[in-house]
Amino acid sequence: MSIQVTNLIKFYGSQPAVDDVSFSLQKGEIVGFLGPNGAGKSTVMKILTSYLKDYQGVVKINDIDVIENTLVTQKLIGYLPEHNPLYLEMYVREYLGLHADIYKVEKNEIENIIKEVGLTSHANKKINELSKGFRQRVGLAAALLHNPEVLILDEPTTGLDPNQLVEIRELIRKYGKNKTVLFSTHILQEVEAICDRVIILNKGKIVADEKLESLRKKALQIIEVEFDVKVESRFLEQMASLKNLHNVFDTTWQLTFDTLEDMRPQVFDFAQQNGLKILNMNRQNKSLELLFKELTQS
Ligand code: ADP
Repeated sequence: MSIQVTNLIKFYGSQPAVDDVSFSLQKGEIVGFLGPNGAGKSTVMKILTSYLKDYQGVVKINDIDVIENTLVTQKLIGYLPEHNPLYLEMYVREYLGLHADIYKVEKNEIENIIKEVGLTSHANKKINELSKGFRQRVGLAAALLHNPEVLILDEPTTGLDPNQLVEIRELIRKYGKNKTVLFSTHILQEVEAICDRVIILNKGKIVADEKLESLRKKALQIIEVEFDVKVESRFLEQMASLKNLHNVFDTTWQLTFDTLEDMRPQVFDFAQQNGLKILNMNRQNKSLELLFKELTQS
């Protein structure tokens, strides 16, 4: 396993921030770490990267314990902390040089990484002259410089404008192809765009650990439809993906489908095939965000 967390517990004083959390990531997986503010995401990430050492449980990177062999596991990890703590007075190339020294990386790697993350035109600028998007690129470049097998990215897209967001997503996707990536966010679309698995944390506990595909299937859509005449439920029950149906009144039905595919065309076809007319129809999506809310609101 690239990352293995077993029965992790972390208290700040008497307050539990991480409450018996276990999960693992296989090599090459890109996993979104979701949860509302204060759920414990950053704390787990700080423990994975050995920034926090006072915890209970077992945490391993590539089967190596992060407490017993911190120097080894830190080399395996590239970490982009939440408030990407860049030295604002430093120049981009100079800053990356500092990281190259820490990790004993050849200087020519700096030029490679500058090119790869699209910093060539900004390499001679001071970090405080850069936009938030370019600062995140510098943070990513620093995290990637020693070619780690595992990337831990704490809210890498928070505060970016839509264009910058797309650019950083592309970079995460690109590097995710041959690395194990755990990245936190509170934006579900982010996970949809990049990951194939999501772990949702709430109040220090894991409330979901699923492939996105199966999570998506739990999403519901409700279509309310008014026919011109009364219809018996046994006819409506033949529709594909129908999870539930409810006769609102007279000729109006509420149909619940457990798919995100727009089912209105199917309802139209059904009406036509049965010689019915639709007088009114509207659709509500029970989106993934709503599902996330359901899992994390208690
Ligand atoms: P997230 O990253 O999901 O927003 P955090 O891991 O930052 O969550 O925080 C989890 C809980 O631990 C929160 O209740 C937070 O207030 C608390 N916490 C985080 N860091 C500290 C700290 N250094 N001292 C005391 N409490 C902390």
